Amino acid sequence: GQGMAYSTLLSAHVLNVKASGMSAYADDPTHFARWVLERGFAKPDQGPFYAPRSLYARYMKELLDDLVERERETGRLRLIAEESLSISPTPAGVEVVLANGTSVVGHLAVLATGHDEQP
Ligand SMILES: Cc1cc2nc3c(=O)[nH]c(=O)nc-3n(C[C@H](O)[C@H](O)[C@H](O)COP(=O)(O)OP(=O)(O)OC[C@H]3O[C@@H](n4cnc5c(N)ncnc54)[C@H](O)[C@@H]3O)c2cc1C
Repeated sequence: GQGMAYSTLLSAHVLNVKASGMSAYADDPTHFARWVLERGFAKPDQGPFYAPRSLYARYMKELLDDLVERERETGRLRLIAEESLSISPTPAGVEVVLANGTSVVGHLAVLATGHDEQP
């Protein structure tokens, strides 16, 4: 959730996009702006609000925690905090080898490795 962009804890480090442009949901563009207002982090009449990055990390975490809770019964969502070392095609889909020595097999893999300090 945090990635490189939202892991700073300094409150002076704010987003470079205003709250109304930072919704996590493409089909609900004001979701983050409402989240901020509902929790009193901004006032309705204060104009464009650039949230601290740590607040956005909190927003992302809340959404993820909520998803985990909602999918608990279905088993459709499994969070694994591990480095993935390789991805190989298999007859059934893909196999991802993790740094802890285990592997995960799935129908498909999405690479979403974001920004890194090294190219
Ligand atoms: C300094 C900075 C500031 C930014 N500010 C803004 C902003 O204000 N507003 C905005 O909209 N966008 C901003 N961005 C763009 C921002 O990166 C994207 O909005 C968004 O965070 C990207 O999400 P992501 O999930 O694709 O990648 P990330 O959030 O970068 O997440 C990728 C994750 O993959 C993990 N990963 C990488 N390799 C592996 C591996 N081999 N195995 C397991 N895990 C791995 C990483 O550890 C990381 O946690 C900023 C980017 C940077 C670098």
